[in-house]
Amino acid sequence: MANKPDPNCRYYYHDYHRGQETTECRLPKSRDTLRWERSVCDSCPVPDILRETNCAHLALEGTIRKRLRVKLHMEAFAICTKHMIQLKEAGYCPQCAAEQSALIDSA
Ligand SMILES: [Zn+2]
Repeated sequence: MANKPDPNCRYYYHDYHRGQETTECRLPKSRDTLRWERSVCDSCPVPDILRETNCAHLALEGTIRKRLRVKLHMEAFAICTKHMIQLKEAGYCPQCAAEQSALIDSA
């Protein structure tokens, strides 16, 4: 079996312990989630969200679902814990953005 490189994701966990290989997704998950498999990472939006977010108070919750009854994929639910709003596009918080530009303007 060809090993894929580990995903570049802060929630991905990979450990070798007594010859046992353990991989795990440590993203908090909703109650509806299916079981994680490594293949979920291949199409997972979370690393992109973490890279592109402007929100310093980002919290993510994942739900693994089956697409077309075959392929597992991750649905990410992002919120800003400061403003308590759901972030629709890739972790972008309009209220954090407004605060940041206000800071820049006053500098
Ligand atoms: Zn915010």
